[in-house]
This record gives sequence, C-alpha cells and structure tokens, in this order.
Amino acid sequence: MIRINEHYTKLKASYLFADIARRVAAFQQANPGRSLIRLGIGDVTEPLPPVCIAALHAATDEMAKRETFKGYGPDQGYAFLREAIARHDYQTRGCKIEPDEIFVSDGAKCDCGNIQEIFAPDARIAIPDPVYPVYLDTNVMAGRTGHERDGRYEGILYLDSTPANGYVPAPPAQPADLIYLCFPNNPTGAVATRAQLTAWIEYAKRHRAVILFDSAYETFIRDPQLPHSIYEIDGAREVAIEIRSFSKTAGFTGTRCAYTIVPKTLVAYDAAGTAHPLHGLWYRRQSTKFNGVSYPVQRAAAAIYTEEGKKQTRALADFYLGNAKLIRDALTRLGFPCAGGDNAPYIWVNVGRDSWQFFDLLLTKAGVVVTPGAGFGRCGEGHVRISAFNSRENVTTALERIAAALK
Ligand code: PLP
Repeated sequence: MIRINEHYTKLKASYLFADIARRVAAFQQANPGRSLIRLGIGDVTEPLPPVCIAALHAATDEMAKRETFKGYGPDQGYAFLREAIARHDYQTRGCKIEPDEIFVSDGAKCDCGNIQEIFAPDARIAIPDPVYPVYLDTNVMAGRTGHERDGRYEGILYLDSTPANGYVPAPPAQPADLIYLCFPNNPTGAVATRAQLTAWIEYAKRHRAVILFDSAYETFIRDPQLPHSIYEIDGAREVAIEIRSFSKTAGFTGTRCAYTIVPKTLVAYDAAGTAHPLHGLWYRRQSTKFNGVSYPVQRAAAAIYTEEGKKQTRALADFYLGNAKLIRDALTRLGFPCAGGDNAPYIWVNVGRDSWQFFDLLLTKAGVVVTPGAGFGRCGEGHVRISAFNSRENVTTALERIAAALK
C-alpha cells in the first residue's frame, strides 16, 4: 500500500492568500459593481524593462538558427550571467563571490524551499515570526516539526519580530542549526543593519550553524549605511547562503530567474563531526533535480547589468518606492506606527487591533485589499501589510478611500 508523506497533513489547512481571495469573492458577490483596489499580494505590476525585452527578442532569434541554437545549458547557469552577477552584485561591493559559487535558478521560492534538502532531517530550524510562509511550510513537509498548536509548530525556534526590536530579531539564547533571515523583510519591510547581521554571523559561527539569507528585495535598499548582501559582513562566507531573485529587481515574477550563492568555504557536518562543503551538495542536488533556466531568460536577466539596464531597473524600483512613500506617509498621518516602505516595497502597519477585523474594515468600507498580519505568524497579529506594487493612480485612490473610511 502506497502511503502519503504524512508530514503534509500537519500543514495548516488554509493558505493566507486563499483565505483573502475567499473573503474578497464573497464581498464582490454581495456588492457587484463596487471597485476594488488590491494592495495585498506582492506581485509586480510594471512591465519588463526595455533592455530585457530586447534581450529576449535577440535570444529568441538565436534559438531560431542552427548555428546559434542552444539546448541544455550549463548546470549552474550560463557563465555570461554568473560573471555579471558576481561582478555587479558582489565584487563592486567588496564581496568576494566568484561566478562558480553562483547557481542560477527559476526562482527564489524554489531555492528557499529546496535548500533544506541538503541538511539533516533533525536540524534545528530558527524562523522569524512573522515570516514568508515558504521557509516554514517546506520544513513542515520535510518532517522537521511536530504538529501546529495555536499558530506555531512544535520544534521550531521562532524569532519574534516585534515593535520592541524594530522587527529585526536578535540571535536567541538557544542554539539553532539552520537560521532563515530575510532583509529587506517580507512582510515587515525592516532591514537589518551591519551590526545586527554581524551578531547573527557570530551566533552562526558559535553554533556551527548556517544562515539562509533571502535578499529577494535587495534592489529597494536606498540607505547607504545598510548592507545589501550578507557577504558584506566579515565571516559570512563561512556561515551563509544567500538567495536573490530578479522577480522584484526587474519584474521577472512571470519570467522566472533567480540565483543562490553557496560559497566554497561554507561547510556543514556529518554525524561524526567531519566537515563537508555545501557547494558540492547543492551542485549535486541541482544537477540531479533541476535542468536550468531557459537561455532567453538568462540573456534577459544579464541585460539588467548593462549601463542602460541598471538605469531602467533603478527607475523601476524608484517607482514602487514612490508608491511606498505615499502609503507610509498616509498611514502615519492617520496615526498608525509604520515600518518598511523606505528601503522595501512593503509597509507594515501597526493597526493596534485584530488584523482580520482591520482587513474586513478596509475591504467593506474602502474597497481596498491589504494582507492581515496574522496570516504571516503570531507576531503579525495587530498589523497589516500594504504592498507598493500597483499603479500610482490605484495607490492614490486607495489611500483617499482608506482615509475616508477611517474618519
Ligand atoms: N523570497 C521572498 C521573501 C519573497 O517575498 C518572494 C516572493 O514574494 C520570494 C522569495 C519568491 O521569489 P521568486 O519570484 O524568485 O520565486
């Protein structure tokens, strides 16, 4: 008799965005004709930058001719893309990352979800609360947790992100083996300082742990004091994996390209305490289960590192940050303490009441959809996440409607 992976049955039945969709659909059915503005799900709204479109067209033409046609690509991604990433995202910031430490993939979500496979089934996991749900759910699926009780899984070390710590948790007193950190953060928009990341690197070294650093929103950092990469911190090459994505940097949510860095100096241990380089394990995992990102998409991703590409992607992020500033300023004027929005596309609004109740209020009175913080974890209660991914017109209208609804 074939049996299921019973760890899947521990997963919380309802997924946050499915819950939101259900409430929105019920509202629309009861109020046909009422216009809705969605500032909830974090998908981009602007089209691909022109340099990416031109690269896609050119690469498609190459695929049309025998002499330039490409079949399966190199396991870690094409050298032209990995060299551009190493140079522009890392070496120019003083980070010693080499092209062969970069693994190009079709998404940060897959990489965040898959990377746990190379660690022991009984690794102790530390996860922030609130959190991007993928880190948690993939560890539940892998059997690293017990059952869920009162919104928390047994066996997970939760790192509370609260107003008191500015939504950046400090390393805990207890040891952990694999620590998930995400800055700029989804959902809180908070960004860790150099000193805060240094404390995490020291913690990881002390416990011979690995930090999984998700910097999918790096492109939104504008404060020159804030680190863009964990490799800007001394010692990170020995304890950290970094994951980035072109999804928010260049509007690739529907095009799909990302990358993961596994430094050759990073190790984890077997039961006897012998060190093994993680680079080799991840190479083995990816070359066994993944067959690469299409050639045109890798060309499109590489195009963002040209001078013109840098200008276009900067303008794209600036546009969303303009929306974010409008949102943060408006909610602050309404009396709500806010985090994020200055170096991140999310504004984390401390609404001081039940987050689903506030969600319902904005839905029914303003026709605006936001994301209830409770859906991201226990510490998300009392907050909502507002996303800056929308047109300027929609953002302006939504803010007017929110102000009127809360009068
Ligand atoms: N990591 C975080 C923190 C995210 O918020 C998201 C998407 O919303 C992702 C990763 C997924 O990125 P990708 O589109 O590259 O799969």
